[in-house]
Amino acid sequence: MSQTLRTPQALRNAGLISPDAMPELERVAARYAVAVTPAMAELIDPADPNDPIARQFIPTAAELDSQPQEDADPVGDRAHSPVEGVVHRYPDRVLLKLTHTCAVYCRFCFRREMVGPGGEGGLTGEALDAALAYIAATPAVWEVVITGGDPLILSPRRLADVMARLAAIEHVKVVRFHTRIPVVDPAAITPELIGALKSPAQAVYVALHANHARELTPTARAACARIVDAGLPMLGQTVLLRGVNDDAATLGALMRAFVETRIKPYYLHHADLAPGTAHLRAAIAEGQAVMKALRGDLSGLCQPLYVLDIPGGHGKVPVGPTYLAADGMQVEDPQGEMHGYKG
Ligand code: SF4
Repeated sequence: MSQTLRTPQALRNAGLISPDAMPELERVAARYAVAVTPAMAELIDPADPNDPIARQFIPTAAELDSQPQEDADPVGDRAHSPVEGVVHRYPDRVLLKLTHTCAVYCRFCFRREMVGPGGEGGLTGEALDAALAYIAATPAVWEVVITGGDPLILSPRRLADVMARLAAIEHVKVVRFHTRIPVVDPAAITPELIGALKSPAQAVYVALHANHARELTPTARAACARIVDAGLPMLGQTVLLRGVNDDAATLGALMRAFVETRIKPYYLHHADLAPGTAHLRAAIAEGQAVMKALRGDLSGLCQPLYVLDIPGGHGKVPVGPTYLAADGMQVEDPQGEMHGYKG
């Protein structure tokens, strides 16, 4: 397989969906973008109806069922966008969304109504000028999170231009890229691309979104090693997904794979209320139980923070589990036993 699969017919030809599913999946694909890179298509076991890689990327008819609580903009990007391409939700940081294109389209994407060929596209030159002018005029902005879409799909020349312009803004001290490219298209992590991410003036972090240890193939690990060896620390971001990673053994294996790859697990996101994604969402109580099991079993280095982005754009908060009883006098140990505390 040498090309990204972008249509139900291409998925059918690759043996990744059955002929009976085609009519419904054509309807799904007309609404939500589809793309499965060769690296991800090769990881899928077509004989396994519950393959965790397939669940992330292969469309299903369940996406046609939207629930009343779901929202086209579940984390409130639009309500916090002062200029096109910028989301300013927290005082000291902004999102800078350079593009709404991705190498793959995840079936649970919280921006699924914005990304893809029918989505919001990329920033024009004028819109980028206005976005950078907003950041330059807002001294509280200490960190710029470059996201999308997937910014690492852009050319090194375009990224280097944005980085040079950010480097000229003195109050911006940290730039963070959010990407799936090192996993879904590891060959794209070239020396030119890595060079474009570097800054003479700011600390640069690369946050990798991955949801299952199988995504961290030797090739993907080598791509991450090129980034870390170039001096760019990496963070891991994961979405808790039903049937993909909602058990402690699977999630723990992913967290260990991150740390072995010199990627510090950062957030475990509770899946957002994006339309047509109910079949992939676990309950918060299930996420807390998985986190408790990780705390009992795994090194502290392997512990992500389990967070919920409060619907409507009210911000991201940790959602537990908690270990201290409400009276502050009892604390639970990792094995579930309570102990008195008199501090
Ligand atoms: S890579 Fe990120 S932005 Fe793109 S479809 Fe997946 S979750 Fe959405």
